[in-house]
Amino acid sequence: MAEPKVLTSLTDFLFNTPLYTKYKLTKGSAPLLALYSKQELRLDGFCKTCGKDSTFVLHGERIGDAFDDIETRFTYDDVTVRCTRVSTHSYKYNLLINRLIIQKVGQYPSLADIAIDETREKYKSVLKGDNWSELYKAIGLAAHGEGIGSFVYLRRVFERLIQSRFDEYKEQEGWDDAQFNVRMEDKIQLLKDHLPEFLVENKRIYGIFSQGIHELDNDACLRFYEAGKESIIMILEEDLRHKEKLELKSKFSKLIAQFDGKPEGAIPES
Ligand SMILES: [Zn+2]
Repeated sequence: MAEPKVLTSLTDFLFNTPLYTKYKLTKGSAPLLALYSKQELRLDGFCKTCGKDSTFVLHGERIGDAFDDIETRFTYDDVTVRCTRVSTHSYKYNLLINRLIIQKVGQYPSLADIAIDETREKYKSVLKGDNWSELYKAIGLAAHGEGIGSFVYLRRVFERLIQSRFDEYKEQEGWDDAQFNVRMEDKIQLLKDHLPEFLVENKRIYGIFSQGIHELDNDACLRFYEAGKESIIMILEEDLRHKEKLELKSKFSKLIAQFDGKPEGAIPES
């Protein structure tokens, strides 16, 4: 099993990391100081109760005075973060710290509940067909440490989104179906003008989506989860902006059509 990665972002750890994923804390690092010192820490994340992005504060229940024996410490510690909009909106975590290796071993509400609500709130208008239910399954499985199952659903959603971009533009670009019967990296290259730039620039990592399940173990799939989900979110973000633009255009056309050219409050000619 691979060495745990060094924990660099407490926000990612608390808001996006599945339970039981191990991270290494380094002495004097920002996440460690944030957990153990009295300084107030602000974290940006989705508030399930507000139903939108918010800022949270980690405060009050500091993890004791363990700094002296932090290198040999073995303990379960509780942490609460509170929404700055309404302080009763809170997320609670139980952390296991063993010789500077940290794991989330419990949290309420669950990561799946938060992530599913966030995805539904933000992308419901552009998640079509099976994409919503399968993305929902991918998030839920990853939150419970089921990397391989999650990977399979993420791949299905990703492939469907890539395919729908191809279908949308093939007539305009004069492509035929055979051109799309290639590796994922090559598909992304072909669609380069119709996909988020960042995704095209980083297409090599999406080659991972093409790997056979037998080539990946559960941990590798869990480590890929965040990147895999983000690649889907980037496409959905673009769909969302496109949809908003069309709505704005149609609203503007209606306003223009309604405009009769007379100044407001003008007395009608008799
Ligand atoms: Zn809130």
